[in-house]
Amino acid sequence: MTEKTKRRPKMEGRTHIPSLDTEKCVFCALCQYLCPDLAITKDEEKRNQIEIDYSICRGCGICAYICPKEAIEMMVEE
Ligand code: SF4
Ligand code: SF4
Repeated sequence: MTEKTKRRPKMEGRTHIPSLDTEKCVFCALCQYLCPDLAITKDEEKRNQIEIDYSICRGCGICAYICPKEAIEMMVEE
């Protein structure tokens, strides 16, 4: 789990959260286009790094399901 994932804001009712492995991500942005909550953005100042906004994410798991590189894993939220 990344440092960023550990410091996520908690959303009521959410059971799982996506955890991004930046070493596997190829910045294709498929997850960004398909996230129903627009919780994923590409930070172009940081070499197009993918950012997940945990204050918006509802933990649906679509991003992890569609990622062609298996760079996103859904983790149980404590
Ligand atoms: S779909 Fe996967 S590989 Fe593509 S940007 Fe998202 S996390 Fe990275
Ligand atoms: S788990 Fe769902 S809401 Fe959260 S970032 Fe992934 S696609 Fe978006």
